[in-house]
Amino acid sequence: MKAVQYRKVGAAPEVVEVPVPEPGPGQVLLKVTAAGLCHSDLAVMSWPEEQFPYPLPLTLGHEGVGTVVALGSGATDVAEGDEVAVYGPWGCGRCRKCAEGKENCCPHAAGLGIMPPGLGSPGALAEYMLVDSSRHLVPLNGLDPVQAAPLTDAGLTPYHAIRTSLPKLVPGATAVVIGVGGLGHLAVQLLRALTSVRVVALDVSAEKLELARAVGAHETVLSDGAAASRVRELTGGTGAEVVLDFVGAEATLAVAAASVATEGDVSVVGIGGGTLQVGFGGGLPFEVSASAPYWGSRRELIDVIDLARAGLVSSHVETFSIEDAPLAYERLHAGEINGRAVVLPHG
Ligand code: NAD
Ligand code: ZN
Ligand code: ZN
Repeated sequence: MKAVQYRKVGAAPEVVEVPVPEPGPGQVLLKVTAAGLCHSDLAVMSWPEEQFPYPLPLTLGHEGVGTVVALGSGATDVAEGDEVAVYGPWGCGRCRKCAEGKENCCPHAAGLGIMPPGLGSPGALAEYMLVDSSRHLVPLNGLDPVQAAPLTDAGLTPYHAIRTSLPKLVPGATAVVIGVGGLGHLAVQLLRALTSVRVVALDVSAEKLELARAVGAHETVLSDGAAASRVRELTGGTGAEVVLDFVGAEATLAVAAASVATEGDVSVVGIGGGTLQVGFGGGLPFEVSASAPYWGSRRELIDVIDLARAGLVSSHVETFSIEDAPLAYERLHAGEINGRAVVLPHG
């Protein structure tokens, strides 16, 4: 089968021929129908050799959707032909966090060598993929696989961040979304679906700001040195109750810190290498809570898929063949993907 692999640190990903894997005990084999490309893959491919945490070659792709085609011995709860989305942040399955479906918070996964597909384990950018347990599979219940693939991360991650801040997202409040890419364009829609706040979207690209407006942002602001004062102006000087930063660079974190209101939340979702200073003298207004959320829970993925089935959120996608996946990564790197790039391994 064809698979998109990162084979050598510093080299571009390649489409290669590898054997179709066979499901071992408890595992499920999926025929991949759609797989999304995330900016985190570009971060992984930028890490230096000394710090590279995963075995190579690595089949990329941590946003996967597919059809069940084979079950390993003892695998239950799914049947051949089922259309499912893959919950990616696999945990130990036994601890308190995992019992709550919060496998993204499992404290044992790393120690046990359990790694998410595409981020250590073979991922979804292939014609077939293995899933370690049927508990990682969420039924699509008729949702289009191309729509569903981005929801497993680009939808789930902002949903998790927004849910955490819901008590502050009251009517009359303002939420700022910094970076309206794969995650950001779904964040705007999730804010509109879950709350009645005013949504202000920031990006460096006019095309992305146009998408932000098309998917429900009330205001769009060019992300430059004047962005924070524009947010303050739009909020009558008080700032925004919630700021979600989907870039996470020094520059955007400075905008986040200068845009957030007293008692507000700053959610640093982007892994752009910046850090936020918390503590007196750090530049944040009093009583601000800052967090760096990671992916989301299994239950939250079920919620996001239901929101999409109800027509409340939809992924804006550009589709690619598996042969063109390396090109899609190049375009993502150049900032040329509006919404999410989704690969269809079987055309
Ligand atoms: P993307 O490339 O699709 O979108 C990024 C957007 O940010 C683009 O629209 C780009 O124009 C915009 N942008 C760049 N610089 C900007 C600036 N200075 N001000 C405002 N906007 C700017 O990326 P994505 O796949 O949506 O991922 C977003 C970030 O979230 C990445 O850093 C990714 O690694 C990270 N991520 C984190 C988690 C997590 O669990 N915390 C999960 C998924 C992705
Ligand atoms: Zn991701
Ligand atoms: Zn666990």
